[in-house]
Amino acid sequence: MSAHPPTRGAVPPTSVRGAAMRGVVARPGAEAIEAKGWWIAHKWLLLRRVSQLGILALFMVGPWFGWWVVKGNLASSLTLGVLPLTDPFLIAQQAAAGHWPYREALVGGGIVLAFYLLLGGRMFCAWVCPVNLVTDAAAWLRRRLGLKGGKVPSANTRYWLLGFVLVLAAMTGSLAWEWVNPVSMFHRGLIFGFGLSWGIVGGIFFYDLLIAPRGWCGHLCPQGAFYGLIGKSAMLRVSANRRSTCNDCMDCFAVCPEPQVIRPALKGVGQDHPLILDGDCTTCGRCIDVCGKDVFRISTRFDRSES
Ligand code: SF4
Ligand code: SF4
Repeated sequence: MSAHPPTRGAVPPTSVRGAAMRGVVARPGAEAIEAKGWWIAHKWLLLRRVSQLGILALFMVGPWFGWWVVKGNLASSLTLGVLPLTDPFLIAQQAAAGHWPYREALVGGGIVLAFYLLLGGRMFCAWVCPVNLVTDAAAWLRRRLGLKGGKVPSANTRYWLLGFVLVLAAMTGSLAWEWVNPVSMFHRGLIFGFGLSWGIVGGIFFYDLLIAPRGWCGHLCPQGAFYGLIGKSAMLRVSANRRSTCNDCMDCFAVCPEPQVIRPALKGVGQDHPLILDGDCTTCGRCIDVCGKDVFRISTRFDRSES
């Protein structure tokens, strides 16, 4: 086990993804904990865990205790018997398969789509998707074990896979992807016990840990790609509004699941404002947590101010 010492004062390398992969920073956030205290330096992470586990709990109290607050699963659900919510990615697959969704599913899909279009498309990945717990755990363990390098496919592979999933639905006339979709499998595993689901969720963990850092969510998952596309116009944004105080410690790059999105805002590469506008940002807030200089904050796409 080799812990790589944090590099302080280093100029961020040209390949940000490369830097994150090489594990340039072993203990990101140490400086922030010293400056802000442990709780503030983990605020957004803790809030996300409460959100992810709380949503899972709402689904689970039905089958486990008979308290049916929410019926269904993350793909399609009915809350308190009145609020339908449907994953728009599922609706897109249904449409491709030639099955026009029921009115209730369409209404539910419209509500979810509007929410993510307005608020922040890839927030789904950070605040709702249970697979994020698995991939974050793999990334954390990878850093702690000092594992470096890896073989990742191109980040665009997820868009090819997204297209493939829709073509597959059109060709088979069924929701073929949903049989192996890790997001659905995780949920099914919790309710019916992990069989094949274990294999798929465990496979993602070991793939991210041993083969490709942030490989699944950052390069392959078609669902994440779908929400990333939606996220391009979203209102809620992370801003590097105090970027002049950045000391190039690399902590934000080390913890970010999509480190390439930070550079334009933080270093002014190709843009003059400090907003992270890339749809792949999951608005997880981890960069805010780990920054000892308080460079980042949650803002809106209309706020281009710097302080
Ligand atoms: S990329 Fe896919 S698996 Fe990862 S958090 Fe997003 S939806 Fe979940
Ligand atoms: S830029 Fe910040 S908020 Fe966006 S994904 Fe990276 S760590 Fe999360």
